[in-house]
Formats: sequence, structure tokens, C-alpha cells
Amino acid sequence: MNTVAQAKKHLAYRIRIKSDKCQSCKKCIVVCSKQYIIFDEKLKKTRLKRGSICVGCNKCTKVCAYRAIVLDPVIFDE
Ligand code: SF4
Ligand code: SF4
Repeated sequence: MNTVAQAKKHLAYRIRIKSDKCQSCKKCIVVCSKQYIIFDEKLKKTRLKRGSICVGCNKCTKVCAYRAIVLDPVIFDE
């Protein structure tokens, strides 16, 4: 009999922007209400603002005509 308590799980998404596909059209920046994506004026490229974990609403992946954004589900223990 398993007596180990089940840890609470928390689902989030790891986001990546494929630099070889991104055309810096900025559409993903406009649709992200969480402001996770920005345009870096120094690097002249679209990048994640901080970290790489987000809520995974998928607005950015749907608006990207170049399929440059990838979301992978990740599960964290609370
Ligand atoms: S929508 Fe796609 S191509 Fe446009 S900036 Fe975002 S990741 Fe790059
Ligand atoms: S999945 Fe949603 S919250 Fe996450 S970066 Fe894309 S638009 Fe923003």
C-alpha cells in the first residue's frame, strides 16, 4: 500500500522563440496580455522578457505566421 502523500502539481508552459524562424513582426508582442515578449532594440530581435515560463494561453503561437514560438507543458511540484 502506497503511504506517500501525493504532492500537488502545478502545470505551466515553457516558451521558446526560434530565432532562425522569427521575422520580428512583433505580432506576438501585441497579443500577449502578460507582456512576456518584448522587442529588444539593442539586439534588434524579439525575445522573452524574463524567464521562460508562462501561462500558455497560446495567443502568440496562433498569431505567429512563421511558427517561431514553441510552448512545452511542464509540471511543477508545489
Ligand atoms: S509573431 Fe512570430 S515572427 Fe513575429 S515577432 Fe513573434 S515570434 Fe517572431
Ligand atoms: S502563451 Fe500567452 S501568456 Fe504565454 S507568451 Fe504567449 S501570449 Fe503570452
